[in-house]
Amino acid sequence: MDLTLAEEQEQLRDLARDWVEREVVPHATEWDRAEQVDPKIVGKLAELGFLGLGIDEEFGGSGGAFLDYALVMEELGRGDTAVRGIVSVTLGLVAKTIQAYGTDEQKRRWLPRFCSGETIGCFGLTEPGTGSDAGNLTTRAVRDGDDWLITGEKIFITNGTWAGVALIFARTGGPGPRGVTAFLVPTDRAGFSRREIKGKLGLRGQATAELTLDAVRVADSERLGAAGTGFKIAMSALDKGRIAVASGCVGLARGCLEASLAYAGERTQFGKPIATYQLVQEMLADMAVETDAARLLVWRAADLVDRGQPFGTAASMAKLFASEAAVKAANQAIQVFGGYGYVDEFPVGKFMRDARVQTLYEGTSQIQKLLIGRALTGISAF
Ligand code: FAD
Repeated sequence: MDLTLAEEQEQLRDLARDWVEREVVPHATEWDRAEQVDPKIVGKLAELGFLGLGIDEEFGGSGGAFLDYALVMEELGRGDTAVRGIVSVTLGLVAKTIQAYGTDEQKRRWLPRFCSGETIGCFGLTEPGTGSDAGNLTTRAVRDGDDWLITGEKIFITNGTWAGVALIFARTGGPGPRGVTAFLVPTDRAGFSRREIKGKLGLRGQATAELTLDAVRVADSERLGAAGTGFKIAMSALDKGRIAVASGCVGLARGCLEASLAYAGERTQFGKPIATYQLVQEMLADMAVETDAARLLVWRAADLVDRGQPFGTAASMAKLFASEAAVKAANQAIQVFGGYGYVDEFPVGKFMRDARVQTLYEGTSQIQKLLIGRALTGISAF
């Protein structure tokens, strides 16, 4: 077993690491306070090729393995999860899903725009009444001649107010997951409106939105995949998406450890740096072990994707462990910083607020446990 990265992967990781250190870390607090990351970041992410990782070159992508994508997600998560979300939703949940299920026309229409940063994507699954139980969503798409008319509401949609296209899951058939179909809906269509959700605990720089669709007309050629396969498409996107979330969490936990190590070395109490105290070292050791364990789970899941093996359970394990580890690391980092951890002059309070949501979205920790439990026992406890 060889756990070292290939030279090109190290180079990609270092490119992302240096860029994040220079262009993201210095602004993260300011964007958090302003409740918006600088929109120019999208162009920079595109220039670096980060919006095209894993997308074929013929569609403007930069190609590469799934592990390459995970490595970049760790670095973006280390800098600012709000920035990581722009990429992991546009590329991970929307572009890669179009690449997997789209027609040639859909790929040619959207993928080059995502890779160049011209268009941002959003993933519209959650509704006010259906979160974990997304298979029972109520947004409806009905036929109108050759077109479809979509009506319904989506909530907590990452990139919602920035997106040029929304991947919308709507009911076209009977109840339950088999009645759901996916559509690529341009957000400038008549009847499509959106409102940014303010006052979030964390991820304040990210545009999270409520979407309202009032008889939005889409052509049948804008349907993604066959009618009735939408839920399957959503779940397969989220399986891979969970690895990206997990990798972002590894970066966030690493950020907590790095900040805590630096602070513990400098901060003196009782005449000695606090790093010399065993109880402080215990917190640092816990953070280091959990961060490494989370990374190994992420790499294992990414490697399964790259080898074409089943990876869903490994993705759930990585997402569950890494998101909980990120919350714990952020909490411990605040403890290491003492009162200074409670103000945003230092990064750890933001890490805590940004970590907290990661145990909720793309399937809560409870949902990951049910998925793992089902794989272990063969019994669905949903
Ligand atoms: P609920 O499903 O109501 O869950 C509430 C609690 O009940 C949780 O603890 C849950 O674990 C528990 N629970 C529910 N069912 C069970 C069960 N069967 N057994 C045990 N426990 C259970 N959605 C999108 O579609 N696209 C996005 O881009 C997106 N971005 C988001 C960004 C942010 C900042 C946030 C906060 C959310 C985002 N979401 C997005 C929505 C997110 O995926 C949902 O919030 C999540 O799936 C949980 O759904 P819910 O909030 O309705 O909670």
